[in-house]
Amino acid sequence: MKQIDQKYVLPTYARNYINFIKGKNATLWDEEGKDYIDFTSGIGVVSIGHANEKLSSALCEQINNIIHISNLYYIQPQALLAKKIANLSGIEGKCFFANSGAEANEGAIKIARKYGEVDGEIKRYKVITLKNSFHGRTISTLKATGQEKMHTSYFGPYPDGFVYADDIEDIYNKIDSKTVAVMMELIQGEGGVYPFDKDEVQKLAKTLKEKNILFIIDEVQTGIYRTGEFLASNLYEIKPDIITLAKGLGGGVPIGAIFTTLDVLKAGDHGSTFGGNYLSTKAGLVVCDVLEEYKNSGLLDENFIYFEERLKEFKKYHKLFEDVAGLGMMRALRCRGSEIQDLIYKEAHNERVLVLKAGRNSIRFLPPLTITKEEIKEGFDRFERVVKRISE
Ligand code: PLP
Repeated sequence: MKQIDQKYVLPTYARNYINFIKGKNATLWDEEGKDYIDFTSGIGVVSIGHANEKLSSALCEQINNIIHISNLYYIQPQALLAKKIANLSGIEGKCFFANSGAEANEGAIKIARKYGEVDGEIKRYKVITLKNSFHGRTISTLKATGQEKMHTSYFGPYPDGFVYADDIEDIYNKIDSKTVAVMMELIQGEGGVYPFDKDEVQKLAKTLKEKNILFIIDEVQTGIYRTGEFLASNLYEIKPDIITLAKGLGGGVPIGAIFTTLDVLKAGDHGSTFGGNYLSTKAGLVVCDVLEEYKNSGLLDENFIYFEERLKEFKKYHKLFEDVAGLGMMRALRCRGSEIQDLIYKEAHNERVLVLKAGRNSIRFLPPLTITKEEIKEGFDRFERVVKRISE
């Protein structure tokens, strides 16, 4: 199988060649029957775990009826999911559904640019993002991504109109008469798991409102209960003009969403063939229902506390780590150097606990939100063996 993959699939990923054939919640099994604890949830996607029964039976039923008819017709689960997102967020907004995070961010940039065209006399088009951000892999979202290493010359020329700020304080310096929006993550994910300070974010939101500059929050990774509330924007108690979602919303079925309070787009301005079809929006509805119930039962918060306690022990007892970072189930252990990060990442696979790398020196944890205490315990017991081996 490895040979077939290498022969026929473009080599854009540094792949681990494990052939997973089954999963249940946060446990995966390979073809030899070996089990793995999944602290990655497919990079923050499988939010209600692998093979969730409610999701699989709802999707089977949906597939047996209709998967897709196009947006030329009204799609019931799409309307219901949009309503659910508005209700759970407490924000009176509307959704456009896409298929991925990058696509949702592209749409958000389009809305901002149109807002800059129709509001006022001069065209405002500049979008300020942060230097350590990540917003996607399409040409515009690569350019929106502030990390310089992502702007490789061979993909150029890139679209104009993106300005990078070092941090929140620096955003104020970068604003000029052409600025239409600020786009940021509340916790930078790919950049290394860096949460921003709540007061600073609230102050920024207030200033932007006063200056009539749009606030776009990229919640592709932080959204759908990942940080404990439905949206990280709820946790930070802000009401952005545009929020983008993807990853955890579909529980594994590709979906992206732009959720906005602005009434800017008209028929014909934007579209997607697949976006918002029966399959993905049905998945989104089930995921939201399951996690809403999970949150209300108190189990989500219990899980967060247990996960955090275990992580903090690593920082306390092992010299390899200098810090524990993140919120909710978006966590990282900061290693003392990228060599340790690489060693841990590799060894963790051998010990059958799946983790992620992020930023320069972080081991990132994004488990399914429904992970059980037993799975957390087992995963960290394995991780402990990894750390001990490397410390020797
Ligand atoms: N925005 C953020 C914050 C992300 O973490 C990611 C993916 O990691 C994206 C956008 C891009 O999402 P996708 O890979 O679904 O296009």
